[in-house]
Amino acid sequence: MSLDEITRIVTLETSGTTARPKRIFFTRQDLEATIEFFSRVLAQLTRPAEKALILLPANTPSGAGDLLNTAMARIGGQGIAPGPVTDFSHTLDILFSHEPSVIIGMPVQVLALGESAKAKNKPAGFVRHAILTADYVSPAVTSRISDSLGCRVWEHYGMTETGFGGGIDCPAHGGYHVRETDLFFEIIDPDTGSPALPGQWGEIVVTPLNRRAMPLIRYRTRDMSRFLPDPCPCGSPFKRLAPVRHRYSGRVSLSNGSVLGMPDLDDIFFRIPGVVDFHAALSQDPKTPRLGITLKALDPSQIQNVDIQKFLPHSPVLEKALETEALCLSPLGTEAFEFVDTYRSKRKIHLQA
Ligand SMILES: [Zn+2]
Repeated sequence: MSLDEITRIVTLETSGTTARPKRIFFTRQDLEATIEFFSRVLAQLTRPAEKALILLPANTPSGAGDLLNTAMARIGGQGIAPGPVTDFSHTLDILFSHEPSVIIGMPVQVLALGESAKAKNKPAGFVRHAILTADYVSPAVTSRISDSLGCRVWEHYGMTETGFGGGIDCPAHGGYHVRETDLFFEIIDPDTGSPALPGQWGEIVVTPLNRRAMPLIRYRTRDMSRFLPDPCPCGSPFKRLAPVRHRYSGRVSLSNGSVLGMPDLDDIFFRIPGVVDFHAALSQDPKTPRLGITLKALDPSQIQNVDIQKFLPHSPVLEKALETEALCLSPLGTEAFEFVDTYRSKRKIHLQA
C-alpha cells in the first residue's frame, strides 16, 4: 500500500486530556463500501429525483456528509449538504425551498429545526423520513420530530472507525441491523475483554472486513449494547444491535449503586414541550451531588415553571436517585437555544469540582 492510495485521513480528538488523537486512514475503495451502504439505505427511503437534506459535515471531501451526498447522486437523487446547522434561518430557507423528502442529522439539530418549522406554522409534510445519527436518540425526541415534521424517524449507528456507516434500524424499530457485509461486530465484557454471552450487554468491538488503508482488529468502541437474539419481525437476516444508550465512559456512579448518563436525562427533559436541548452539570459534593439543568428552547418564555415531577417516571434512574437522595436537583434554569456543532464533541454531563 502506497500513501498515494490514501484518499482520506480523519484525525479524531479523544475526550481524555492525556490520550493522543487517533488518525484513521481510508482508500477510495474503503470509502466506496460506505457509499454503497448509504446508497442501499437511501434507495429504500426515496424515489428517483428526490432530495435529501444532509446536516452532517460536508465541507471536507469524503466526510460523512460528502459520502451521503455522493450516495444520493448514485441513486438518481440529489443531496443538499449545508453541513451542521449554525445559521437557523438559512437552513430553514433551504428546507422550505428544496422540500427534501429525507433529513439526515444529529438528533438535537433535527429536533430544533422541526420545532422551528412548527412554530412558524410551516406545513412540513413533504419530509417523509428523518435519519438521526451521532448521538443517543431518546423516544421523546423520536416522537417530537415525527410530530413536528410529520415523518418517520430512523436511527443510524456508526463512527469514523466503521467508515461512518455502521447499521440502521428497520420498520420494527427495535435496534440497528448492522452492516455485516463489511463489518464484524462482537460484544465483550468491558472489564475482562472476554466475549459476552448471547444477548448479554457489553462493549461493542468491531473488525472491518475489507478495509485496505488501515485494518482495525477488534476495535473497542466504548459503546455499550447487546445483540438482540430473536429474529427481527421485519424479516432481515442481518444481526441486530440494541440501541446504544451508554458509552462505557462518561457516566456518573451514584451512591445508591446506579449509574447516571446523559440518555437518562434525555428521556426526561426532551419530553418537556418546547425544550430542544439542555445543559447538565453535576457538582461533585461527596455528600449529595447536585444536578443543575439549564433547559434550552427557541422561546425560553414557553418553558417557565415546568413541573418536573410528572416527567420523572420516564427515567427510573433519575427518579430513584432523587428518591434515595443519592442526588438532588437544582431549580431548572432556562435559556435561548443556539445551534452548536456537537458532531465532534458529544453531549455529556459536565462534572464540576
Ligand atoms: Zn428488522
